[in-house]
Amino acid sequence: MRGVPPNKIGKCARCGQSFQAKGPSQKYCDGCRPIAYREAVRICSASYYRRYPERVKLANKVARAKRHDYYLAMARRQHRRTRERLRTMVLRNYSGAVPRCACCGEREQDFLTIDHIEGRARDAEKKFGIPRAGYPLYRWLRRNRFPIGFQVLCANCNISKGKHGKCTHTTKLDGSPTLPSDSEPNSFNSGLIQTA
Ligand SMILES: [Zn+2]
Ligand SMILES: [Zn+2]
Ligand SMILES: [Zn+2]
Repeated sequence: MRGVPPNKIGKCARCGQSFQAKGPSQKYCDGCRPIAYREAVRICSASYYRRYPERVKLANKVARAKRHDYYLAMARRQHRRTRERLRTMVLRNYSGAVPRCACCGEREQDFLTIDHIEGRARDAEKKFGIPRAGYPLYRWLRRNRFPIGFQVLCANCNISKGKHGKCTHTTKLDGSPTLPSDSEPNSFNSGLIQTA
């Protein structure tokens, strides 16, 4: 960078603002530089892929073979993240910004499930192809823009509702005695507990 005046004022090629250039070839201001760099890389690699798809595929294959465990771990991480995002989105749509059990108010996300309010999960699966629980159900709900008929319940309340038709929390609040454990189980709900 010899021969270049140190405090040259440049004009950012991205945002158009004036900035203090540190070198003769600096085109972007400090704020735009990392973004502009990422944009350039994306455009370059996309056009390279269009020209030489086979080369890129082979290079990826070689890289994957060399660092198999690394790429596997990365794929698993991404998979988990995608699933968690979907789950959070579904729970928020049926509850609120901080999803909670509609019965007991439990907020621990790990404990929360989606419950078919009418308790006819098996019927709904047979008649309409609505998955009973877990990620297939979450995907179905998103695809169908979160239809009514579902609510957020924690696993405990869900199990209790599946067993008695409604959670024993509510029967206790009513003042009525807890249903006997040999009462008719709701067969429609027994498959609701998600294992995924
Ligand atoms: Zn800029
Ligand atoms: Zn609950
Ligand atoms: Zn409950």
